[in-house]
Amino acid sequence: MPTVILDPGHGTDTYENGGGKGVKVGGKVYEEHDFNSDVALRIEKILKTHGVKVVFSQNPYSKDVSLTSRTNLAKRIIPNMFISIHANAGASSVEGICVFAWENATNSNRMADLVVKHMKADGIKTHGNGRHYSMLNSWTNLHITRELAKVNLPGVLIEHGFMTSKSDFENIFGKYSNSYRQKCAVADSKAILEYLGIKYKGEATTQQKPKEEKEVENAIIINSVNDYPAAELLAEKLGCSIYPSKNAYKKSQNKVKHIYVVGGNKDGVQADKVTLLAGPDRLTTYGEVKKAL
Ligand SMILES: [Zn+2]
Repeated sequence: MPTVILDPGHGTDTYENGGGKGVKVGGKVYEEHDFNSDVALRIEKILKTHGVKVVFSQNPYSKDVSLTSRTNLAKRIIPNMFISIHANAGASSVEGICVFAWENATNSNRMADLVVKHMKADGIKTHGNGRHYSMLNSWTNLHITRELAKVNLPGVLIEHGFMTSKSDFENIFGKYSNSYRQKCAVADSKAILEYLGIKYKGEATTQQKPKEEKEVENAIIINSVNDYPAAELLAEKLGCSIYPSKNAYKKSQNKVKHIYVVGGNKDGVQADKVTLLAGPDRLTTYGEVKKAL
């Protein structure tokens, strides 16, 4: 099963804490991470229906984790593709999407070209021709593209438009955000699937009935990427999904009978039965999961 790491850039705290990753419009803060997370979860949904395994480098809708921990996860897991999801900031007149890949990284550049191709086909505007080459001694020397290239892992960083442009803002956070985010997720997914040699079959399988809750026996929630390996053991035993955060579970609107929370706490998690498997550190949590198997 091919594996893709989805990397929703930054965290829920990166604008307010001075990182400036987001915009303030009309006195309201719009965190870039919220957009990145939503697009990532939409991509995850599409990829899963195509038999692609998805791992998150950073839990959607949660606090920022370091760039190094994101790329270290990739070095451990060795995914078939790493997709870093962002929105850009710049002068108010600049707009459109652009994709970064490390110069001379053949597979990453092939992927970047595919993203631009599918974005254009879906009518999404590009910034210039939509491509930027990441390289040393340049503002395009990005941690993600550089560190992946060093170990020959294919990956791209996609800026899905400029939060600082009036028209892009309406797409990213404003009145067109639902359709724009879905369009971006579909274009990214089509590119990923084409790269992996998998035929795109649509946004969801036919069995999924819209607006109806799906009832599921078991599911797992993790609160930190660190607990992913432990959660994966349990997921294999139970044959169930792993939600990368409590919010991701809530947003899924699935009704799960028995929820296992691996690591952290179970505050705010609702199901017929909720089991917490956690210790004060990653190893103890792993031990608790082993005991439960
Ligand atoms: Zn960003």
